[in-house]
Amino acid sequence: MFSAICSLHSHLTTFNRTHTTVVAMPKTSAPRLPKPGSHRAADPSHVETPLALKRRARKLNRTLALGYPDAHAELDFSTPLELLVATVLSAQCTDVRVNSVTPVLFSLYPTAADYAAADPEELAEVIRPTGFYQAKTRSLIGLGTAIAEKHGGEVPRTLEELVALPGVGRKTANVVLGNAFGVPGITVDTHLGRLVRRWKLTDQEDPVKVERELMELIEPKEWTMFSHRAIFHGRRVCHSRKPACGACFLAWQCPSFGLAGTPDPEEAMTRITSPDREHLLALAGFGED
Ligand code: SF4
Repeated sequence: MFSAICSLHSHLTTFNRTHTTVVAMPKTSAPRLPKPGSHRAADPSHVETPLALKRRARKLNRTLALGYPDAHAELDFSTPLELLVATVLSAQCTDVRVNSVTPVLFSLYPTAADYAAADPEELAEVIRPTGFYQAKTRSLIGLGTAIAEKHGGEVPRTLEELVALPGVGRKTANVVLGNAFGVPGITVDTHLGRLVRRWKLTDQEDPVKVERELMELIEPKEWTMFSHRAIFHGRRVCHSRKPACGACFLAWQCPSFGLAGTPDPEEAMTRITSPDREHLLALAGFGED
């Protein structure tokens, strides 16, 4: 498995090294890395054509697929309603924490009508660990009522109908469409927004504008998986405050390599602690020699 990944990395390094300069090979066991700021897209005066930008975005997505072949929604659910509820609860909360409360929640409130008829204090107590529980309680009762009264108890399948539900925005709607109904959608959460700006795929801050621009770059059939992969990368490697640039398998493709985070491999590798760490580090070039 490890040698297969190393072979994959050799291919990936050749594949990536088209426009940057090799400046260092810190240690025999550490990866070869580009010079920070040497990516063409890192140059503010560089004008990237729409076609070049689209090709670069799709190449990034293909490389992400090597890193995260099993990327998926990290919220636990078994029905569209459960996913909708879990996604509402995930606002300002980790998926792990949401997953810790949903088994009890889903057993107590299995249908939209159950949320509609819920006692607010009892419901709030169950979801309290997810934070902002008063507002989330109102959202769950409101969306349960709307689904029960306007949609016959079934979660609607269109973006327009979903965003009309209380507490449901485009991000939540796209999560439900993409993961419960198989309708491709780009989920612009805090991770994805941060990463696509670091990759210089967009400079937009508004999630709706980010979503629209990405829809022009990424193939529609890849929208959902691209979102999952980017979010996985944001959680594991390209952290908000301390991105692990020196240990990132996207180093050669990323305009922000060494600018957003440390380019030092030894320091960077300590910032990757996920269960797939060995795979990610091998893909980045660690342990080749
Ligand atoms: S960790 Fe660094 S190199 Fe990797 S994607 Fe983020 S900014 Fe780019």
